[in-house]
Amino acid sequence: MLLILLGAPGSGKGTIASELHKTYGLVHISTGDIFRANMKEGTALGLQAKTYIDKGDLVPDSITIGMLEDRISQPDCAKGFMLDGFPRTIPQAEALEGMLQTRSQKIDAVVRIDISDEEIRSRVSGRRVCSSCGESYNVDFRPPKTEGVCDVCGGPVIHRDDDKPETVMARLKTYHEKTQPLIDFYEKKGLILPADNEESSKIALSQIHAAFADKGLIS
Ligand code: AMP
Repeated sequence: MLLILLGAPGSGKGTIASELHKTYGLVHISTGDIFRANMKEGTALGLQAKTYIDKGDLVPDSITIGMLEDRISQPDCAKGFMLDGFPRTIPQAEALEGMLQTRSQKIDAVVRIDISDEEIRSRVSGRRVCSSCGESYNVDFRPPKTEGVCDVCGGPVIHRDDDKPETVMARLKTYHEKTQPLIDFYEKKGLILPADNEESSKIALSQIHAAFADKGLIS
């Protein structure tokens, strides 16, 4: 299966992706995670990306598209994958179409994660993440057992710089301007599957499983 998760920053894409990975074994590709890994390692790509990410801006398409193409060219992606955080602009979506065409692959569905900006702002302010393994936490409803320490790997649990309130506002603005037009782009292709994540990811996931079954994507 080849899947795209489309939603605002903080909409819960990462949580939903990790559940879909567990259930269907889909390879999970998060461009945000790839950038963060590069920033941590101090690579040239990471240093370039950091200047944009810290401001809540998108990393330019000229950097992002090539990076994604490298990732989906890996052998583990031959039978499909799930994109989380890509595409984020119309040129990225068009570039993806071209890459898939040359690989004789096609997108099966685009999951649109629906959630209000207000709910995002309240969730993201409590969001914390392990800087080693990427496990997500929330200070209000899913804190790590020991404050600041990851339950999974023992790594440091941090508040991402780009999850700070002023950056979140900038990221939401960027989402509405640059990424929201993709909903229309994929709607016209009949690929959108809506998932309501305002209340809980359980509801969103049950809608996704039902839509997959309905579309014959799972048996
Ligand atoms: P995320 O974890 O998906 O919210 O991504 C964190 C940050 O990485 C974003 O705010 C962007 O600055 C950058 N980023 C991730 N994916 C992309 C993309 N497809 N295009 C441009 N920038 C991206």
